[in-house]
Amino acid sequence: MDNVQSALKVKWDDLLNNLQKKMPSHSYSSWILPLNFLDCNDYSIRISAPNRFHTEYIEMHFRDIIIAGIKDVFEKEMTLQIVTDQRNINPKLHSQSSDLVNISDKVSHNEKPDERENFQQTYYVEDRYSQLNGRYTFETFVEGPHNQFAKVASRAVSEAPGNTAFNPLLIYGGTGLGKTHLLQAIGHYARTQNPNRRVIYVSSEKFMIDFITAIRNNRLNEFGNLYRQADLLLVDDIQFLESREGTQEQFFHTFNDLYQRGKQIVITSDRTPKELKGVEERLISRFLSGLTVDIQPPDFESRIAILQKKATIDQLSIPPEVVEFVAQNITTNVRELEGAMTRIFAYSSLAHTDVTINLAKKVIKDMMGVRKTRHISIDIIQSAVSEFYKVTENELMGKGRKKEVAQARQVIMFLSREISGMSLKTIGLRLGRRDHTTVMHACNVIGRKIRENKSFAKEIEAIKHQIDLASS
Ligand code: ADP
Ligand code: MG
Repeated sequence: MDNVQSALKVKWDDLLNNLQKKMPSHSYSSWILPLNFLDCNDYSIRISAPNRFHTEYIEMHFRDIIIAGIKDVFEKEMTLQIVTDQRNINPKLHSQSSDLVNISDKVSHNEKPDERENFQQTYYVEDRYSQLNGRYTFETFVEGPHNQFAKVASRAVSEAPGNTAFNPLLIYGGTGLGKTHLLQAIGHYARTQNPNRRVIYVSSEKFMIDFITAIRNNRLNEFGNLYRQADLLLVDDIQFLESREGTQEQFFHTFNDLYQRGKQIVITSDRTPKELKGVEERLISRFLSGLTVDIQPPDFESRIAILQKKATIDQLSIPPEVVEFVAQNITTNVRELEGAMTRIFAYSSLAHTDVTINLAKKVIKDMMGVRKTRHISIDIIQSAVSEFYKVTENELMGKGRKKEVAQARQVIMFLSREISGMSLKTIGLRLGRRDHTTVMHACNVIGRKIRENKSFAKEIEAIKHQIDLASS
């Protein structure tokens, strides 16, 4: 090693030490340690991450802290470039087809024919596979800031089940936000990559019912064997296992057995693992040993994109103003968003009328029961936010840069965009004549903070709830 190289090596070690002090140790060891120093010159430094997901994760979550660390260690500002380790991009893709051959070879060599037959006769994994809904694929899944990590991680897992650091992968998020869709997309994709892969999709409720039936019929062994045959086990809605000790116990054994043999497990939940009451600690810590990703409610743009995608898939034509109207009024749940559109089309074809805003209003009003369709003005949003943060209207309109005021202002901008879909320009004008780029920046900042900071996300939910009350 020449002098320059060894000097750089020391700097890199300094940087690692610096980051280690500033981060929780599990984040440091999962995300920073796997990075490699590539090279640097006077102005910039290049490091590599082991895979695409890792690169994106670092970009989203740790870029700022790494830059600050570089500044500390090199005592100057430098640009940072994070690249994906080339050795891991191409060879993986290219070798995938040969991996597949190996896997299927293994399957046919390892299994005695009678075992295979018995297994198929008894439990029909193929049948379970066919429980996958053909519509729930990656192609039909709209990606947005609210679900990006969940999508990227799911994709990574489906490309190399069992061969990523994301085992188990746990996806959590509120109801109707696309967990089942993603879970099934993983199954579909893994199967298209290798039709011999044994994919089992099961809701935890079904797992429980099967388990109880197996006990009753004295077929516990077969029950266990079925799930242990999986190369990829997809368990939907794990929260149903709450307070079901017997089933949890069984699940724990299945989980361990698969995990130890390098099989992939993906789980969804409508709450965070820590919020799962009545689920054993040891099971929760197993869930947390892989990667946990969340799905948030879609933002306005994503709601529009989802509606457009659905219209394209169903070959329906829907005027843009109706798409916008639906996206403005249904904000928290993709299932309802789709439901509204289906109903609008049903009404229009039954009544032989065009798809118009008026029709959409009527349908949405019916869906929401007494709740009125919303034409929420920026004033309602503003007063809810100023009430919540105890900031006066004058302060909001003014130029003051006090932290609480600045954040309250940004929240108003974000919510105006999110709830009422107003243009950046209008929002800027209404809020003390600010530029549209300021509004855009605010929307990005707040969007990111919601994704990264759970207690902040709860604040925003609380404000939204107030707005709901004020406008109904
Ligand atoms: P969950 O399991 O989280 O309750 P689902 O996966 O059943 O939600 O999603 C509800 C509906 O919304 C499904 O029809 C699904 O296809 C659709 N959906 C959810 N998210 C998306 C998305 N990002 N892109 C396209 N469709 C979506
Ligand atoms: Mg679901």
